[in-house]
Amino acid sequence: MIIGVPKEIKNNENRVALTPAGAKELIKNGHEVFVQSTAGLGSGFSDNQYTEEGAQILPDIESTYAKAEMIIKVKEPIEKEYSLIKENQLVFTYFHFASYEPLTKAMIESKSVCLAYETVEKPDRSLPLLVPMSEVAGRMAIQEGAKYLEKPLQGRGILLGGVPGVRPAKVLVLGGGIVGTQAAKMAAGLGADVTIMDISLARLRYLADIMPANVNTYMSSEYNIRELLGSHDLIVGAVLIPGAKAPHLVTRDMLKLMKPGTVLVDVAVDQGGCIETCKPTTHENPTYIIDDILHYCVANMPGAVPYTSTLALTNATLPYAIELANKGWKKACGENNELKLGLNIINGDVVYKGVSEAFDLPY
Ligand code: NAD
Repeated sequence: MIIGVPKEIKNNENRVALTPAGAKELIKNGHEVFVQSTAGLGSGFSDNQYTEEGAQILPDIESTYAKAEMIIKVKEPIEKEYSLIKENQLVFTYFHFASYEPLTKAMIESKSVCLAYETVEKPDRSLPLLVPMSEVAGRMAIQEGAKYLEKPLQGRGILLGGVPGVRPAKVLVLGGGIVGTQAAKMAAGLGADVTIMDISLARLRYLADIMPANVNTYMSSEYNIRELLGSHDLIVGAVLIPGAKAPHLVTRDMLKLMKPGTVLVDVAVDQGGCIETCKPTTHENPTYIIDDILHYCVANMPGAVPYTSTLALTNATLPYAIELANKGWKKACGENNELKLGLNIINGDVVYKGVSEAFDLPY
């Protein structure tokens, strides 16, 4: 199969969908790989690193789309790319169709085959191509939180781990899923005094078993959250209710319960946020202050660490990409239900229920 890897053109997107190691694997399987010039640069991969593994470099995005039977990318196609996508071309990337109607309509019109990373699903209902980015965001939440707790950055001026003779900072993690677990582990590793909350008792039991001694579990309820806000220095929002907006667990009036300089990192901001006063920010301008409380609400946190994020994402996508290339999408999806669930649009027909429901389209 002929595989094309375009350079991401979304603002500030430095990830790339295939590493030189991934290109090597696809080529070993008998496929041809065409990479747009400088596509890997933002993640630290030069054109030469791809050609050394047998990939070929194309000068621009137009020729990359024109050449390929399968396009592998990271972010959803943006307007400039709509007209480049061809009938029958397989496009394997994040689409998030339900949140953007013009993209859905454009892909229907293109008559391409759209296989969305975010809906590839394992039998246990986990989403293997979303997990790596949650892992990155969860770990980053503590790195960012620790940084913004510094006084010159307008935080309380407290070191997460403390020092001998001085108590460590207190970190509260709301939600004990992928993001929350990674955040709690990082905070604990730095020596902070961590509490992780969830509404699932089974999840709290599991976390209590696997977490180090400086992580306590606590049932999530408004009463319990109010009880803890005043004594914590860094609060991480990491809840998710699948298919719904995040619930506001920290409401505006609760800000006055907190100490000035407390840092809020709402990772769930991409689903509306679980802290009422959070609104999406960017890496250029990541924070703002309300009532002396610092808010960090970057909607695409993994974008700040493209090297790690690219490797994490491609570790998860490559086996699926190889299967698609080896068998073609029809056979691959026929034999692998995880991939089949990734199909969202086939030659103009919407085949994913959530997308058809979002825009009242036939299914
Ligand atoms: P997940 O499904 O693994 O975990 C969510 C957890 O929230 C579950 O354990 C669930 O029981 C818990 N929960 C639900 N309601 C709760 C409540 N009222 N109180 C406490 N816990 C509650 O999801 P995840 O992969 O950890 O993702 C968390 C959020 O982070 C999602 O909104 C996701 O989109 C977002 N995310 C953001 C970025 C970013 O860059 N900002 C990156 C990756 C993920």
